[in-house]
Amino acid sequence: MASTTATPFGTSSNDYIDQVISQVKAKNPAEPEFHQAVREVLDSLRLVLKRHPEYQSAKILERIVEPERVILFRVPWIDDHGNVQVNRGFRIEMNSAIGPYKGGLRFHPSVNLGILKFLAFEQVFKNSLTTLMMGGGKGGSDFDPKGKSDNEVMRFCQSFMTELARHIGPDTDVPAGDIGVGGREIGYLFGQYKRLKNEFTGVLTGKGLNWGGSLIRPEATGYGCVYFAAEMLKTKGDSLEGKECLVSGSGNVSQYTVEKLLDLGAKPITLSDSSGVIFDPEGIDREKLHWVMELKNMRRGRIREYAEKFRKAEFLPTNVELDHNPLWKIKADCAFPSATQNEINAADAANLIKNGCKLVSEGANMPSTADATNLFLDAKIFYGPAKAANAGGVATSGLEMSQNSMRLGWTREEVDKRLHTIMCAIHKTCYDTAEAYGTPGNLVNGANIGGFLKVANAMMDQGLV
Ligand code: NDP
Repeated sequence: MASTTATPFGTSSNDYIDQVISQVKAKNPAEPEFHQAVREVLDSLRLVLKRHPEYQSAKILERIVEPERVILFRVPWIDDHGNVQVNRGFRIEMNSAIGPYKGGLRFHPSVNLGILKFLAFEQVFKNSLTTLMMGGGKGGSDFDPKGKSDNEVMRFCQSFMTELARHIGPDTDVPAGDIGVGGREIGYLFGQYKRLKNEFTGVLTGKGLNWGGSLIRPEATGYGCVYFAAEMLKTKGDSLEGKECLVSGSGNVSQYTVEKLLDLGAKPITLSDSSGVIFDPEGIDREKLHWVMELKNMRRGRIREYAEKFRKAEFLPTNVELDHNPLWKIKADCAFPSATQNEINAADAANLIKNGCKLVSEGANMPSTADATNLFLDAKIFYGPAKAANAGGVATSGLEMSQNSMRLGWTREEVDKRLHTIMCAIHKTCYDTAEAYGTPGNLVNGANIGGFLKVANAMMDQGLV
């Protein structure tokens, strides 16, 4: 990006953006994931600032990278042996220009301020792309639910919500699940909120069906990611029918990605967890998927058991110290990274491209490093960035909020139809915006600019708040 277009305020738009990126790094040291997410969005916005210098004088960029509020708190709880445990809780209320803060809670030992700020920042643009009225937020804890009893998870969730409850509300901030926070955790969190506030409201999404949840919410992120992939292929008259697909992770997003791939005639051949990868050349069919769901959601076991149960499948261990993830070396037509951030580095991306992979649709948040993203864009394969491709989850959370406000529930078909319509609309926004800003086919620019404009204009309208 070599242009030095001068703005009415003296500094070129490129210099201005570089300044903002430098300030973010200086003000938020030791938060590499947040720097990465900010740089990716701001790089796309170089194209916008040339046309809209008014955003510079209103300091929209400086404001949009600064959370409206950061809440950090102590979460004490007692384990099954009677020992006191202390974790750290967070909620980042990033931006409320277009609606109440909305975004998931992540419980994972890797959680820290920088990771949650990157997720909250991404959420702002993602939520804007859904066309629903939702601001951006994210939260969580360094608590690890893995290996904990249900009672330990409940005591933790109750302590976590005891503090969080004073900061959230159905018109203020509406958390949902993310890594380590599924139906069980949402249930305990909701129960404690209700007890503290003495009110039954849609303060969380991802709730159980009997107490305000929406049909299709558990499926929505995975289904949506596959719908987005199908839309990308449709632009070239192609479809997922018969395509071999790599899926990483084996949690919520991965499971329903596999389910929708099967619905659309594709052949998913991998899954993973933090211990390794299973590669099933015969394909993961519905029966095997059902077994994985039981393994992961009920028994909470490890994915290596798959290869013991289905003998044609292979287990390939990961080696974190060697930065070795064998998944992305497997030959396939499409890739659906659905585990965690930065799980595809430049070497992985190069392997995928070399092996003929023609499509990447991101179920996880920021699963590709900046270098990997650039390789996909340079290779001109179909590349659906996370904030667009995985927006189906939060979009359906938005639909859950609507149903809660109306105190009624839509059918499965109704919600799925709305989800599909939203994913097609998100793809169209990204596709058309990329073209309108002179980078046809670059859905990274399309998603960043499309998501940004609505939020920036709302911030302009609402004055300096
Ligand atoms: P789950 O907790 O259900 O599953 C996460 C999966 O990813 C597990 O298989 C887990 O393996 C693996 N994983 C997590 N962290 C790591 C790590 N550091 N290294 C290797 N593997 C890891 O989470 P979800 O499926 O809900 O979320 C997956 C991704 O999708 C996340 O990036 C999340 O932010 C994103 N996302 C989720 C949405 C949702 O609706 N749930 C919405 C939009 C995005 P293990 O069990 O061994 O840890």
